[in-house]
Amino acid sequence: MGTRTIPQVGPTEARRLKRDLRFKAAQTGRHTGDRWRERGRCLSADPEVFFPTTIDDAAPALAMCRECPVLGPCLAAALDAGDSEGVWGGTTPEERRAMRQVWLPEQSSW
Ligand code: SF4
Repeated sequence: MGTRTIPQVGPTEARRLKRDLRFKAAQTGRHTGDRWRERGRCLSADPEVFFPTTIDDAAPALAMCRECPVLGPCLAAALDAGDSEGVWGGTTPEERRAMRQVWLPEQSSW
């Protein structure tokens, strides 16, 4: 298996990511414990919906996340854990790979 190259986020993209409402929700929702897992909209959903094979197939999961009351802590947990598969916290794996480049450096100054 080859090593995946992660595109580096430049300063302009980093500023955009920090303004992303999902990213802000993750910052706010971090360190709020694990009870959020009991309130996810996806609890009763088919897990396969959250592990789509293409970006287009991710639309139903992303729509469910947008209505979810625990998007922030969910995304924070995914960013902390480095989950690189599936839809979490209203993001695709590609979006989280970019966000993690901003997320990890930010944490040390909080
Ligand atoms: S944000 Fe999405 S993946 Fe996370 S708990 Fe809510 S519905 Fe599930």
